[in-house]
Amino acid sequence: MQKKSQKSMKAARRPSLDSRRGGRASPTGRGKVILAVGAHPDDLDFGCAGIIAKWVKEGATAYYLICTKGCKGSNDPKMNSKKLAKIRKREQLEAAGILGIKEVFFLNHEDSELENNLELKEEITRIIRKVRPSVVFTLDPLMIYSQKRGYLNHPDHRNCGQAVLDAIYPLSRDRLTFPHHQKKGLKPHKVKETYLINFDEQDTFFNIRSTINLKIKALSKHKSQISKETLERVKERASQTGKIKGYKSAEGFKRIILSF
Ligand SMILES: [Zn+2]
Repeated sequence: MQKKSQKSMKAARRPSLDSRRGGRASPTGRGKVILAVGAHPDDLDFGCAGIIAKWVKEGATAYYLICTKGCKGSNDPKMNSKKLAKIRKREQLEAAGILGIKEVFFLNHEDSELENNLELKEEITRIIRKVRPSVVFTLDPLMIYSQKRGYLNHPDHRNCGQAVLDAIYPLSRDRLTFPHHQKKGLKPHKVKETYLINFDEQDTFFNIRSTINLKIKALSKHKSQISKETLERVKERASQTGKIKGYKSAEGFKRIILSF
């Protein structure tokens, strides 16, 4: 009995995500439309699959948009780019199926050659106007390197993230931008909040205890890229991130609530 009351007091003391952050949106997934945009097949499953799967279970609708074919990530001398692109597309579709993603869009740009140019921004704007997300996840373009982890960020990640932010504002919002979209029934759209994937700098944390296993299962579909050791590292990182807020497993992001 005493145990129970201690537990409920603890819960009462812990404010919801949104009251803590002063945000507007509901902390559950119900009613949310989510678009997650990554440079390569697997980026989103590493970065945000846990919270997306959780929100989908709670009633959100989620879409993935993958900018490149991911066709350079292999050291196997028997592998070629065409074959790898096919494999990675299949792997991403299988992973998305596990997470309950409604649809995966592929832009099929060349891996390692992604540029933050008007073509890419227009393509992303088109998808934003099509699926009309309230929430967008993408890679933080400010993440250039990590001294802490001895890591140079992939240029495709930076360019993807920057193009997504540019597409959210001002491109998707302004009706005179890409006016041909309106002829196809794609109206201007305002995204409400954005979560940036940055493994070093985070200000918003989600408890993914109920979906960490789904995230690992989804990641394990990327057989051409991910070893068992990597899956263990992902679990360990989720656990370390969780410790910041007292969760068993968590994902962390930089959050931007958009007020335009
Ligand atoms: Zn990547």
